[in-house]
Amino acid sequence: MKRTGILSQIVLSLSLAAVLVAYVVGYVAQTTEAQRLNEQLEEQADLTVSLLSGLMLESIIIEDVPVLQTGLIEAIARNPKLLSIKILNTNDDVIAEAAAASEAEEGSFVMYERPIELDGFAFGEMVVLWSTREGTALVQERVQQTIMWTGLSVGGLSLLVWGLVHLLALRPLGMIHQRMSDAISGMKRQRRPLPWYASREFWALNYSVGVLEDTFDERDEREFALEQARESADIANKAKSEFLANMSHEIRTPMNGVIGMAELILETKLDDDQRMYADTISKSGSALLTIINDILNFSKIEAGKMELEKAPFNLLHSLEDVVTLLSPTGNDKGVEIVLRYDPTLPEVFVGDVGRFRQIITNIAGNAMKFTLRGYVCIEVTGEKRMGEHMLNIAVRDTGIGIPQEKLDTIFSAFEQVDGAATRNFEGTGLGLAISERLLKLMGGRIAVSSTVGKGSVFTLSVPLEVSAEAPPEAYASMDMKGLRALVVDDLEVNRIILSERLQTWGMSCVTANCAADALNILKERGDSYFDLLLQDFQMPIMDGGDLARQVRTLPHCKDLPIIVLSSVEQPLDKDEIDELMPCKVTTKPVRAAQLQRVISTMLLTGKDSGQEIAPETPKAEGEFDRRVSVLMAEDNRTNQLVVSRMLKNAPIDLVLAANGLEAVNLFKRNRPDIILMDMMMPVMDGLQATEEIRELEAASGFGEHTPIIALTANALQSHKDKCLAVGMNDFLSKPISKKALLDACSRWAKDNVPVERTGT
Ligand code: ADP
Repeated sequence: MKRTGILSQIVLSLSLAAVLVAYVVGYVAQTTEAQRLNEQLEEQADLTVSLLSGLMLESIIIEDVPVLQTGLIEAIARNPKLLSIKILNTNDDVIAEAAAASEAEEGSFVMYERPIELDGFAFGEMVVLWSTREGTALVQERVQQTIMWTGLSVGGLSLLVWGLVHLLALRPLGMIHQRMSDAISGMKRQRRPLPWYASREFWALNYSVGVLEDTFDERDEREFALEQARESADIANKAKSEFLANMSHEIRTPMNGVIGMAELILETKLDDDQRMYADTISKSGSALLTIINDILNFSKIEAGKMELEKAPFNLLHSLEDVVTLLSPTGNDKGVEIVLRYDPTLPEVFVGDVGRFRQIITNIAGNAMKFTLRGYVCIEVTGEKRMGEHMLNIAVRDTGIGIPQEKLDTIFSAFEQVDGAATRNFEGTGLGLAISERLLKLMGGRIAVSSTVGKGSVFTLSVPLEVSAEAPPEAYASMDMKGLRALVVDDLEVNRIILSERLQTWGMSCVTANCAADALNILKERGDSYFDLLLQDFQMPIMDGGDLARQVRTLPHCKDLPIIVLSSVEQPLDKDEIDELMPCKVTTKPVRAAQLQRVISTMLLTGKDSGQEIAPETPKAEGEFDRRVSVLMAEDNRTNQLVVSRMLKNAPIDLVLAANGLEAVNLFKRNRPDIILMDMMMPVMDGLQATEEIRELEAASGFGEHTPIIALTANALQSHKDKCLAVGMNDFLSKPISKKALLDACSRWAKDNVPVERTGT
């Protein structure tokens, strides 16, 4: 809404006041003037009547009409205000009358009736019509003059008030307002002092604005200093990140030599001491690499550069991956890792699967590392909450535990319960700090409770959106509804997890915690009660092998399918298994899908081969069905040597280029099957060389597409993206292991088909 200015308001108010005053004054003037006029007329009429009656008394008494008539005409002629005169005798008869030539208009005269008297005797009556026109005009004129003068004086006064308000109030106020606006908008202008006549109140207001100005100035200075500090911090942070990235690059290049060569030495014939030395070099190299990765990761999170991906992923499968990965680390100690995934929970969520796996691997890896006997259990539960699931992942171990006073500090960077000097366990102390920060980025948190000597529980709570894109994979398997299984395991968590899994597929379960118990149950339940025996191998008193043999001695259990779950590979040899048929041995940890597959084949085919089934059917990588020509662009001599030694025994013809330009030229001449491309090289770098090669291919018009695998010491995702964007197909981060290199070469030798570029 547009607001009116105070001046307009004053002008408007004064005009209204002037109109009101003029109206009131006009009204009062009109009333008094009209009253005065009346009085005057009445006086004149009385005078005229008494004059006329005095002059004509005799004629009236004798009723001398002609004289009276003449007298009246004379009187009217002399006084233009007289409109008519009548003389009536005592009987009210008109004895004489005269009237002016003009007609009396309605409302423009007054009538006076006056008795004609002498010494107390009445002789008749005189009726006079007196014109008021002239008097009214006079009154009107006077009233107008009064109104005009009143209007003029009120107007003059208003003008004076307006001027004073402007000068004494509005001008200083305007100046203060300008100063205040300048202070707020941060404009620096020459200050004008208030006029000398400004009132005390305005000086006080002006002073307050001055104080406000100083405060604003101080604030601006502070903000400027802060901004500068932030900019320098940003620059420092960027420099730190760049330094770390460069350092990691620089360290990775020689590390490639150390780890690669150590790996190659380990493949040669060595005596025990030499093997131990080479093994130590290899392990130390790997440990150093973990530290570099952790530091790089941590600094990226700290610099706020960590961006999480959002894609559908199967949570159960990724947790099973972690369990499969960590399971061998407990083999020597006899520590098992088990996973319980609430069967009512969905499996496919949206999130950053890589980072998720990193967190779980770290927490569960710690649990495995710090548990010397017993087990580690990952338990996933959750509840639905407004379109997403609040997942609780509890990682429980029976390990050494964490003292109460250390529970808070372990999430800080480089904090470990054991000081560096007294440390029994390897590690950087960064894992939990990274995990906690990653979880925070995901909107989750982590809590820990622990009892020294008994174990720890790390509980991760994280909200995850259920994916609508990819529905959970359905296992293609037989219908297991109504089947009965006996589950034998000395570990209670395992019994719970296994029977829960089987129940979700519609089976009913009976559990036994030892071989003897299992045998009793089998005897009790009698003939063909159970369709399946699912039993652990490592159990106290009687192991899985003995149990299976005992089961076979029971007459009604000769054909009962037995599945043996074992943490050690080949707990039973082929002959033993043959004796126990139908029997299958599966290596722990067993994935849900894999268990279902094993049970299905077992029940469908009955007497199956009984061969041990590995946790994952590995792809036939690292194998070649033909000779493959590989061009490697790499400027570093050691790396050239490492890679050529790693590929030495494979059916690979390796050609070396010392930089990108050489690689492009060799590509034109040789057209290799695969190109291994370093990123940073003199003359022409790997990215540019790739672009040139892709252009050459496009120009040739045959749609050829030579797989290019980046070999780089840059571990960051952004570098990987850059490689893929220019048309590379794969990415191997240095230091490269022989297996990863051979796997990549064999994979690309097989899949040598044109691949879509991910960018330009
Ligand atoms: P790192 O394992 O590399 O030393 P982390 O940040 O992952 O670093 O862990 C920090 C410390 O917390 C560990 O060094 C260990 O002292 C303690 N810790 C973590 N998890 C466990 C656990 N499950 N049991 C006992 N101690 C643990």
